[in-house]
Formats: sequence, C-alpha cells, structure tokens
Amino acid sequence: MTIASLNELEQSIRNVPDFPKPGIQFKDITPVLADGRLFDATVQHLLADIPQGSVDKIVGIDARGFIFGAAAAQRLGVGFVPVRKKGKLPWETHEQSYDLEYGSNTVAVHTDAVTPGERILLVDDLLATGGTAAASLQLLSRLGAKIVGVRFVIELGFLGGRERLGPFDIRSLITY
Ligand code: AMP
Repeated sequence: MTIASLNELEQSIRNVPDFPKPGIQFKDITPVLADGRLFDATVQHLLADIPQGSVDKIVGIDARGFIFGAAAAQRLGVGFVPVRKKGKLPWETHEQSYDLEYGSNTVAVHTDAVTPGERILLVDDLLATGGTAAASLQLLSRLGAKIVGVRFVIELGFLGGRERLGPFDIRSLITY
C-alpha cells in the first residue's frame, strides 16, 4: 500500500469556521485520525527526516500532540513525554506561562521526564501563534534537553508562530 501524500492529508483536514469562537478557522484533524492509512502516513511524514537512533524521546503537547507524538515515539521505539496543561501532572513539575490574546496559559512537565542531554523531538498538531510550543521549548531547556527538531502537522504561517520558537529545525507538513 502506498503512503498517502501530503496533498491527500490536506484534503482530509476539515476546516470548521467560527469554532471555538467567531473568526477562528478550526483545523479539525479527526478525519485524518479516523482513517488508518492517513494516520499512518501523517506519522511517517512527521518522521521523514528523523533517522532511527537520532532521538531519545518524543515530547508531545497537550492534547492532540499526544496522539501524533505517541504514535511517532512507538514507531521510532523511543519513549514519550507529555507536556500538559497546568494541574494535570501528578508529580513534581516545572511550569511555564505564556500570554494569549486575552489572559494566559500555563504548561507543565515532570521534572524527571527528560534527563540532561537527551535528544528530543517536539511534536504538536498545529502551530498557530507559537506560544504553546515556545513555552514547551522553555520547559525542555530547563530540563537540559537537546532539541533535535520541532514537528507540526499543520502550520498557520500567516500568524508567524515559528519566529517565536528560536533557531531550531522546525517543519510542518501542511502550511496555510
Ligand atoms: P498557539 O500557541 O497559538 O501556537 O496554538 C497552538 C495550539 O492551539 C495547538 O496545540 C493547537 O491544537 C491549537 N490551535 C490553535 N489554533 C488552532 C486552529 N485554528 N485549529 C486547530 N487548533 C488550533
């Protein structure tokens, strides 16, 4: 069976206008997840330039980053670490807050989730303003992680999020 193309993936992402609030074009990836061939292809494309043995762990961002990140980790045979919204992780955490248009958010990671020097691939479903990924990278920096790369299924390029992330190898499968 041939791997689904990026074009096929793009065709399968559902655009939902005005969700969760007016003016937002929500990129719904559930049709991709619901199709085994598309889900598998998405994970393969995310890992296309990540050779086996080049990362020690994959870190996924709450919540859809868990889906792609965990599948990618299993494919590479490495561990998975969740970056979660504040208050969800049971053990000792580092926290990092970041500003939203209105208010702020806080993400957290277990203090023992990554050991200094471990090679990390950060994965999320979508890069918008970059606040969530930037805060996650700050957490990983506090843990002494070596960032191999940052991967997104979707990037809203017009929001300029990647400018907030720093000089990492940042790639997205589909850019709007
Ligand atoms: P940001 O911190 O602005 O880069 O937002 C990234 C997070 O918000 C990602 O984890 C996405 O899941 C979610 N997100 C932001 N904008 C959208 C959108 N238009 N469609 C779907 N998810 C979005």
